[in-house]
Amino acid sequence: MTIVAHPRLALSAPVRATVPEHVEMLDTETLAEFVDAGGDARPCQHKDPEDYFPLIGSKPAKPESKRYIEEQVRARQLCQDCPVLVECRELALRTRGGRHGVWGGTSEWERVNIRTARLAETRAAKAAA
Ligand code: SF4
Repeated sequence: MTIVAHPRLALSAPVRATVPEHVEMLDTETLAEFVDAGGDARPCQHKDPEDYFPLIGSKPAKPESKRYIEEQVRARQLCQDCPVLVECRELALRTRGGRHGVWGGTSEWERVNIRTARLAETRAAKAAA
């Protein structure tokens, strides 16, 4: 399952809603330890934390807005070279603390979309069982 990028976004790769098996098998605590172990190799350790929370204190930008698109592009750029990007994204998807800001190369709305897609997939699988 993949989340298709917003049609107005000229992005090189869509954000995948699926998770590699080795990440999916980790419990949330282990995931958090894994992300922490990224240490100084994580780009966010060398940037202003506020760069990762562009919309804090306000509602997330609407998906059709220019602000949203800018955030999407920026999210990918901030985390692009992170060695624990996939793990960080999964942790953000699972935890309340990851509801706001940029985590794992995704914005808030992007993660809402991923959660929604996952829920739909789970419901479809249950209905088919
Ligand atoms: S994916 Fe982004 S937010 Fe997560 S640890 Fe890496 S640089 Fe930081």
